Amino acid sequence: MRLTILGSGTNVHPTRAAAGYVVQTDQTMLLDFGPGTLHNLIKTGIDRHRIRHILFSHFHADHFSDFVTFFFDAVYHSKFVGPRADLTLIGPRGTRQLFGTILSTFPGFNTAAFRVRIREVAGRSFMVGKTRVLPRTVVHSPRLHCVGYRLEHGDRALVYSGDAQYCPSLVRLCRGADVAVLDCSFPATRPGLGHMHAGDCGRVAREAGVKRLILSHLYPIAERYDVKRQAGRYFKGRILVGRDLMTISV
Ligand SMILES: [Zn+2]
Ligand SMILES: [Zn+2]
Repeated sequence: MRLTILGSGTNVHPTRAAAGYVVQTDQTMLLDFGPGTLHNLIKTGIDRHRIRHILFSHFHADHFSDFVTFFFDAVYHSKFVGPRADLTLIGPRGTRQLFGTILSTFPGFNTAAFRVRIREVAGRSFMVGKTRVLPRTVVHSPRLHCVGYRLEHGDRALVYSGDAQYCPSLVRLCRGADVAVLDCSFPATRPGLGHMHAGDCGRVAREAGVKRLILSHLYPIAERYDVKRQAGRYFKGRILVGRDLMTISV
């Protein structure tokens, strides 16, 4: 399994694209699709027209807005350039309503020459090709359903927290994972609402016994502190601070 970080920042960040990741197993799938990540996807050389599954954690715009540009391009491609595989959009409660509206409202979006499936998930695992995907509800923002994902392929497991506070469900999701990519919005000394800080990320990694911790979804304030050292106070395993276009072999 191969993970490439398309965006390690958040909404508007001076040097990082917002949230987005591409995972390659027997399938190529996206985890979130925030602003700036589509251009980073193109830089990886991965053919965007071969992506058949996009998994969303939630619908704050920093996790989602490049989908609109991506889909407009996919419609054009399917009509005038070449065939495109069907697309499955997966996400938490609200996914059906949101994409139902987008696909029926944006000009031309209902003329795609490929099928679009929309799937809402909560806690039940499912297969994407030979990859087992386990979504799990995590605590992020009141009245907003947010899920983290665990992807298992062969004997390897990768977890992506989505946006999350420290919560027992996230620790369970991360249990024994080879790599955990966690929401490290804030430095431990400058915590904020709805997200983990570096110390929380270290705590989740330690309690779950993960092998490698990747700190991502960094707010600009996090750049001014040594978040790796802060997480390392709790977690003695390997810690990486995510960078756009960083590739990790899981
Ligand atoms: Zn969010
Ligand atoms: Zn976010």
